[in-house]
Amino acid sequence: MRRIQYRLLAIIIFIGVIGMIMPIMYTNTLALNQAKDTIINKLRSHSNTFIIYAQNSEKDTFQKMAEEYSIASKLRVTLIAADGTVIGESSLPVNQLSQMDNHISRPEIIIAKNSDEGFSTRFSNTLNTEFVYFASEVDQNQFGFKYVRLAQSLKSVENLASKYREFYYLIIVIIFFVIIIAWYVLKNWLTDPILELTKAAEDISQGDLKRRVAINTGVVEIDELADNMNKMTIALERGYRGIKRMERVRSEFLGNVTHELKTPISSIVGYIETLLEGALNDENVNVGFLERSLENAHRLEELVTDLVEISRIETGELKMNFEYFNVYDILKNLTKDAKQRNTNKKIKIDLDCPDKSLFIYGDKNRIDQVIANLLSNSLRYTDEGFIKVKINRRDNEIVFSIIDTGIGITQKAFKRIFERFYRTDKARDRQKGGTGLGLSIAKHIIEAHGSKIYVDTVEGKGSTFSFGVTTINPDK
Ligand code: ADP
Repeated sequence: MRRIQYRLLAIIIFIGVIGMIMPIMYTNTLALNQAKDTIINKLRSHSNTFIIYAQNSEKDTFQKMAEEYSIASKLRVTLIAADGTVIGESSLPVNQLSQMDNHISRPEIIIAKNSDEGFSTRFSNTLNTEFVYFASEVDQNQFGFKYVRLAQSLKSVENLASKYREFYYLIIVIIFFVIIIAWYVLKNWLTDPILELTKAAEDISQGDLKRRVAINTGVVEIDELADNMNKMTIALERGYRGIKRMERVRSEFLGNVTHELKTPISSIVGYIETLLEGALNDENVNVGFLERSLENAHRLEELVTDLVEISRIETGELKMNFEYFNVYDILKNLTKDAKQRNTNKKIKIDLDCPDKSLFIYGDKNRIDQVIANLLSNSLRYTDEGFIKVKINRRDNEIVFSIIDTGIGITQKAFKRIFERFYRTDKARDRQKGGTGLGLSIAKHIIEAHGSKIYVDTVEGKGSTFSFGVTTINPDK
């Protein structure tokens, strides 16, 4: 595995080198072509001048003619007969002339034969350099030679190319700076942020959920990645906190359950032990002890029932059974039960439900359970005055209110009475039973009906618990 920054560097250098070579190669060919054009033009005009010179020359051999013009023009001059025999050559002494190949098939001669003039560039084996050749055809009868060929070595072009050398250096310097800038920019935009992201991911994976990525490159993809990584960490952190809180709630709940169960169990054990140690035969206490044991056993039963209920509600195991049912029917029975239980108190229990034909859509047994619970709370915490169940219609809702003139609830307790196991100190002092789970269960049930339960209370004056249930089936 190679690091991304080195790969990028390699790519940048590669592009840079191409960027250097391309213009150099281009200018080289450009220079060469320009030089060739200049040479060809020069050779063409010399060829014309040579023809005029040849008409007036007093030289007796073609070899001498070629040599003289060559000295004056610094060009290589070759004179060729119609059959291709070289009859004058400025770059060779006359005695070697006969050793030269027949020139009839030289490219520039072939072209000149067809169209008066021809040129070509090629390597001359005779002189061991690259040459530009230009040949023109003349009248052999008039001049004694058929072709005059002028040539110039391309060596001079190399001098021309050196003119561009400064330009090449400039390109190299510019490209070098471009590479450095590109490298710096890519490092800032890409490799440094990636390194930071990697480090952050490493920290987070090691449990540092407070870690955030601080990146602002201005590159959309990178910034988005950083942003999403931060969001992910925040979500993780929240989830983790949620789990921690749940763990705490669970262990608190377990502590409460243990405590609540222990109290009645230890009293039962206490009473039975006392009875067995002899109190059984004491007519003054034995029945009383047994009655209190039974009371505690009932309380235990009540607690266990409520605990099973609340855990089934909270795990979602308990399903609601929705139906239409008549409100008056259940209220009539509930108030009748309450009146029966209220034998030794001076409390008036009333049902205010003028319309006996009201129907609501809900779980009949559960709504019954909630009202029964609220009524038994009212009975428990009211010594005199009245308890009233009142029904109001509001749009598509029936609002149930359970009103009492009891002890009311303090400002401090007010916020907490719907919590599991919450009981006010007054409630504890009263020793009136109750598990501290009733309102919590009631709240769950009303919420499962898509509604809320409210309490309105004045300490020492009384309380009103109310909730609404819809009269329409929301699925229809
Ligand atoms: P409990 O079984 O102890 O009544 P609940 O969850 O039903 O538990 O009620 C929680 C607490 O709210 C009670 O302990 C009591 O302090 C307070 N409370 C509930 N209803 C009333 C009421 N009608 N009047 C005064 N206090 C009440």
